[in-house]
Amino acid sequence: MCSLYRSFGCVYLLLEPYWKCTHGKVEVTKDGKFLTTMGKCKVFGELAILYNCTRTATVKALTNTKLWAIDRPCFQAIMMKTSLVRQAEIVDLLHKVQIFQHFPEETLNKIADVVEETYYDDGDYIVRQGAVGDTMYIIQKGKCHVTQRPGSGGSPRLTNTLKKGDYFGQGSLDGRDEKRDANVIAADKEGIVCLTLDRDSFLQATGGPDSFISKSVDDSKNKKVDSEFADIRLPDISVVATLGVGGFGRVELVRVNGRNQTYALKQLKKKHIVETRQQEHIMSEKKIMLESRCNFIVRLYRTFSDSKYLYMLLEACLGGELWTILRDKGSFDDGTTRFYTACVIEALSYLHNKGIVYRDLKPENILLDSQGYGKLVDFGFAKKINQGRKTWTFCGTPEYVAPEIILNKGHDFSADYWSLGILMFELLTGSPPFTGSDPMKTYNIILKGMDMIEFPRKITRNAANMIKKLCKDNPTERLGYQKNGLKDIQKHKWFDGFNWEGLKKRTLAPPIVPHVRSNSDTTNFDDYPPDTDPVPPDDMSGWDKDF
Ligand code: ATP
Ligand code: MG
Repeated sequence: MCSLYRSFGCVYLLLEPYWKCTHGKVEVTKDGKFLTTMGKCKVFGELAILYNCTRTATVKALTNTKLWAIDRPCFQAIMMKTSLVRQAEIVDLLHKVQIFQHFPEETLNKIADVVEETYYDDGDYIVRQGAVGDTMYIIQKGKCHVTQRPGSGGSPRLTNTLKKGDYFGQGSLDGRDEKRDANVIAADKEGIVCLTLDRDSFLQATGGPDSFISKSVDDSKNKKVDSEFADIRLPDISVVATLGVGGFGRVELVRVNGRNQTYALKQLKKKHIVETRQQEHIMSEKKIMLESRCNFIVRLYRTFSDSKYLYMLLEACLGGELWTILRDKGSFDDGTTRFYTACVIEALSYLHNKGIVYRDLKPENILLDSQGYGKLVDFGFAKKINQGRKTWTFCGTPEYVAPEIILNKGHDFSADYWSLGILMFELLTGSPPFTGSDPMKTYNIILKGMDMIEFPRKITRNAANMIKKLCKDNPTERLGYQKNGLKDIQKHKWFDGFNWEGLKKRTLAPPIVPHVRSNSDTTNFDDYPPDTDPVPPDDMSGWDKDF
């Protein structure tokens, strides 16, 4: 009997071995303490198929045990393939619909996202003559009969038979509330499947949220490092104090020889990046931050690397983390929350316009500058995706991930709207709505949905309404995803009277003005002990040559 569970990135499923009565049995322990035993058909290790995580318990076989195992790459590949195949099949059908033929692929992809597959039994009426409807149908599987009552009255007569790829009800999409001019009845012993598309979803998909229309921003001028920073070398930089400790290393407040200004220097251990297979994320973090010029996003001025570390020279935000302020105050009032939410919306709308999803919204990743304005930092999970496309990597912070990420359905910009709702809730109450004692429990609660959450009284009606609209289970129904994009969020009642112009011009007074006495004042940050980690090993493999 061996320890099965400590080091494998797999999910094991105890299997009933055919019809023999040999039962498998395993024992679960944590830090040497007995927790439970498990028999056939029990599943464990499921967190590991979602993302790279440390095992929380040890599982040991007590008898000869047979297990099924699936590893993360395999699980994710299956989920992604299933979703892509379904999408491709639907887009293929949509191509055959005449009224869609002039639509670009991007729009068809969006329509494919909002159509629903509906099943009908043989003999079911799908539409009835004379009824008013707002839905069109495309037959995906099976046959239907079309019958019509003659104008002179009498019983309906069969006028047509429809098959896979045929469609009906398209007249109802343009808003004229037309009456159906025939009956359509499922006529297939095995039942039929239709793709259904209602008017609202159609308008939403074809109108296209503003933020999704790529505005071909001219980035060429942003790609290069500003000449102002081109001649700085690593030995010119000296550390003043530690600002934060992240997953990959420390962030230090630094000075550069011959300059008055201070900066933040994020140091990442190369070996650790390789071990956790984050190379691509880090390269994308650099690229996205270096190209971003937005008042609500921390500036990255330039990067360096040596044999052990990657370095990012960043604008220093000395007001501290929004998370620390929230922790000290407990919760924020409506107005304070509105201000920070607005800062985040400005940052997200900048990113989404460039086709970038952020995917790591939380108070820890919002820093205050010395004036009190919020800025997004930590772009480790941000990713450029093509318009109308999705991405599959499982990432984010458990409390903030959207249900479609947990379910591995593929996600897009709308995952950021979900997290925005969670952020509002956490800022208003001090804790996020979905929390469990471990990530798997948190995911289970998230999948039950926002309707299961009781809103404390201090969340005003308008704020609650906005949170619920942002945190819809169906990504395409979220506020922000519709025709007007993020403008819909800005126009929500909760923002009535908010001075967006003042925010953009930075003339609006922030609700909390941090005390920053000088550009080397780190009192708004927690204290960190000196770095006692062993010096990391060299990594000269060259994967970071473009850093
Ligand atoms: P994690 O993966 O744990 O989120 P990380 O390694 O990606 O961390 P960051 O989140 O970018 O690192 O930074 C860690 C902390 O360092 C931040 O939460 C913040 O407190 C501080 N910090 C980062 N950048 C700056 C900055 N530009 N100005 C001031 N403080 C900063
Ligand atoms: Mg962070």
